[in-house]
Amino acid sequence: MKNYAAALLCDDCGREYGLRERLNTCPACGGLLEVQYDMAAMKRDIRRIATDERVHSMWRYRAFFPGMADANVVTLGEGCSPLVKSVHLGPSLGLENIYFKNDTMMPTGSFKDRGFSLAVSYAKEIGVTRGFTYSSGNAGASLSAYASRGGLDVLVCVECVASETKQAMVGLYGARTAVLEFERFAQIETMLARASKELGLYQFVNFINPIRHEAMKTYAYEIVEELGRAPDAMFHPVGTGGGIWGAWKGYRELGALGLSDRLPRMVGVQPAVTAHFREAFAQGRREAGAYGDPAKTIAQSIAADSPIQGGRRVLRAIYDSNGLAMGVAEEEILDAMRDLAREGIAGEPASAASVAALKQARRSGWLKDGETVVCVITGSALKQPSAVMKAAGVPKERLHADYESLRALLGGAEGRA
Ligand SMILES: *Cc1c(COP(=O)(O)O)cnc(C)c1O
Ligand SMILES: [Zn+2]
Repeated sequence: MKNYAAALLCDDCGREYGLRERLNTCPACGGLLEVQYDMAAMKRDIRRIATDERVHSMWRYRAFFPGMADANVVTLGEGCSPLVKSVHLGPSLGLENIYFKNDTMMPTGSFKDRGFSLAVSYAKEIGVTRGFTYSSGNAGASLSAYASRGGLDVLVCVECVASETKQAMVGLYGARTAVLEFERFAQIETMLARASKELGLYQFVNFINPIRHEAMKTYAYEIVEELGRAPDAMFHPVGTGGGIWGAWKGYRELGALGLSDRLPRMVGVQPAVTAHFREAFAQGRREAGAYGDPAKTIAQSIAADSPIQGGRRVLRAIYDSNGLAMGVAEEEILDAMRDLAREGIAGEPASAASVAALKQARRSGWLKDGETVVCVITGSALKQPSAVMKAAGVPKERLHADYESLRALLGGAEGRA
C-alpha cells in the first residue's frame, strides 16, 4: 500500500522532520508535531473512504495512516463501533437525529484502543522497544494490552484518582504499573519534558506522541461512511483533547479530498469544576491555563487542572469549526449516565458528560431543529464501579422465592391488577 504520509511538521516553529525519526515533540523548540500528508496524491488516488473494505476495524482506512509493514500492525479489531440512534433522549429534546458512537465496545472498553493500536504499531515500525505513558486509567489499560501483544516494554503511571479497577486492569494486561502522585498537572509535563531530553524516553502521551491521535480521525471516516454525510455537530469529552482534535483532522481531510461536503461544529466537554477550556473560550483566548480542582469530579477520565501546551489544538478545533467549549455539573453527569443507560449504553461519567452537554446545548437553543448530532461515548461504566453505584444504587426491592410473594410484588395478574 502506498504511503501518503510525508513528514512531521512542528506546530510552533514550522520545522519538518522525517517520519522515521523517533520523535515525540520538536527537538528544536519543544512544539507539538503533526503528520502531514501528500493531499494532492491522495486526491488523485482515493475515491472512497474505506480503502480496504474487507477489513472491519479502523484499519480499513489504512491509507489515511502513516505507512508501515503488515508485520508491525498490532490490532484487536478496534474501531468500527456501533453508531446507535437515540430513541428516547433525542425525541424528548425534539431532535430526531441524535447518535451515540458507542466506543464502550472497544477491546479494552474505551476509545483509547484506536490510538494505541496505531501508536504501538508505528512504534514497532520505527524500532521503539521501550515506552512510557501516564494515564487517568483507560489509556494505561489500552497501552498495556497493545504493548504486551506487540512485545513492547512499557511503564504505565496511573493517576492516583483512577478507580482501583482501572489501576488493576493495567497490570492485568501485563505492563509494569506505578501509581502516579502529584499536586498539579504541570508537574507531570515538566517531568516528561526532562525524561524525553535526558533519557530519550519514547512517550505515548497524547500530542507528545505525534501518532496516537491520527487514529481518532477514524471517527470522521466511520460516521461519514455510515451516515453518508458529516453530522452538524459532534460532542466529545475532552481530557488532553486527542479525541476531539483527531476527529476534527479527519473531517478536514475528508473535506479536502472532496469526500464530504460539510464540517461539523466540534464541542469539547469538561466537568464544570475543571473547565479550563470553557474559561478560555468564554474569554476568547487561544490558550487555556490552570483552573479548578480535578479531585472534585466523578469524571476521572477528563479531570485535569491544566491542558498540555495550553490546549492550543483543542481551542483551534473549537474556534475553527464554530463549535463550543462546555462545562457540565456533577448532577448533570449522573443524570446523563442514566439517560444513556436507558438507551442501552452504560458509559462512564466522562462519556456521559458529552450527553449532558448535548442536553444543555439544546435547551440554550444552540442545537437547532432537524440537526444531526453525534455524541462520542468514549468508555465503559464497568471500569468505574463506584460511579455505577452512585448513578443507580443497589436494588431496593426484595423477593422471597415463593409464588405469593411474586404475585404481591407484581400487584396481581397482567391487565387485572
Ligand atoms: C481519555 C478519555 C477521554 C479524554 O480523551 P482525550 O483524548 O484525552 O481528550 C474521554 N473519555 C474517556 C472515557 C477517556 O478514557
Ligand atoms: Zn519546533
